[in-house]
Amino acid sequence: MSKEIVVSGIRSTGHLHLGNYFGAMQNYVKMQDSYDCYFFVADYHALTTHPDPKELKPSVYRVLAENIASGLDPEKVALYVQSDVPEIPELYLMLNMLAYKGELEKVPTFKDKVRQHPDNVNAGLLTYPVLMAADILIHRAVKVPVGKDQEQHLEMARNFANRFNSRYGEFFPEPQVFRFNDETVKIMSLDGNGKMSKSENVNATIFLNDDDDTIRKKIMKAKTDQGPTEANMVMPDYIQNLFALMNAVSNPGVTDTFRKAYNNCNVRYGDMKKQLAEDMVAFVAPIRERAAELNKDEDTLRKILKMGADKARASSSETIKGARKLMGINY
Ligand code: ATP
Ligand code: MG
Repeated sequence: MSKEIVVSGIRSTGHLHLGNYFGAMQNYVKMQDSYDCYFFVADYHALTTHPDPKELKPSVYRVLAENIASGLDPEKVALYVQSDVPEIPELYLMLNMLAYKGELEKVPTFKDKVRQHPDNVNAGLLTYPVLMAADILIHRAVKVPVGKDQEQHLEMARNFANRFNSRYGEFFPEPQVFRFNDETVKIMSLDGNGKMSKSENVNATIFLNDDDDTIRKKIMKAKTDQGPTEANMVMPDYIQNLFALMNAVSNPGVTDTFRKAYNNCNVRYGDMKKQLAEDMVAFVAPIRERAAELNKDEDTLRKILKMGADKARASSSETIKGARKLMGINY
């Protein structure tokens, strides 16, 4: 039986962080044996914010190295750069004809960007969900492992797929968010404002290339409060976030001890953060060191990209051929 097709991407906008790791990459690694996986570095998506051309290549190689350092095997999956697959912008153009200005303007991530960068509301930003739909539909993927912040974009990808199918004939399957344990992950920023991110909240985001002391400092500065005032009190989201991180990197016994202390109103956040900081350092350091090692070997990374592009183009050109035929573009 053929394996189910999976697609996901990460923008080359900076260093990867714990949100990318727990929201996306950890799932990629878990999926690589049982699915037909296409994972890509989204360099076109990074262009919405006009990065310095000199920065693009190091960013792309860094995302690649950090993915491999996190456990992704380029022999098992197609690991490629979005701009190496020209079929993606071709499908994006086709889907743009089925996407409406009104629905694109209503997307919350678009509205956020308009608020944050009112001087750069470009059409690429508006049609971001269309390009994302093309990234997924180009392989006719059914499963998409992404963090919670991307759920709405995926719903739009399903809408575009259905619109294409009803206009031109059944062709694209409906892609679904993939989650382990039925939960999508959101790692909050340590200051309690929004999510950890490559391009925002950088002082309260832990990056996979942060050195040991930076990790310690960021965790010790994480937002806490006076502590619970009654037994078994509901946790504020920034405290819940610290427990979620602890759950991910510390021994279960350690997390249980602090959770019990919280429920008994005698938790000491200073101690908890010290423990979390040490466990986080032990977790991040090997990934950081492996990524730095890989990043030095540009020849190998280039070969990996070529191999990934070949696999991705084989699948994409089939899809474009089918889509063109259905649309009547076959003279
Ligand atoms: P940018 O700020 O440039 O948008 P980003 O940190 O949001 O960067 P993306 O490249 O947009 O990263 O997303 C890559 C993947 O990581 C997506 O699957 C996204 O859902 C996931 N992701 C990003 N941030 C988080 C987070 N804080 N918690 C969980 N998942 C996240
Ligand atoms: Mg993002």
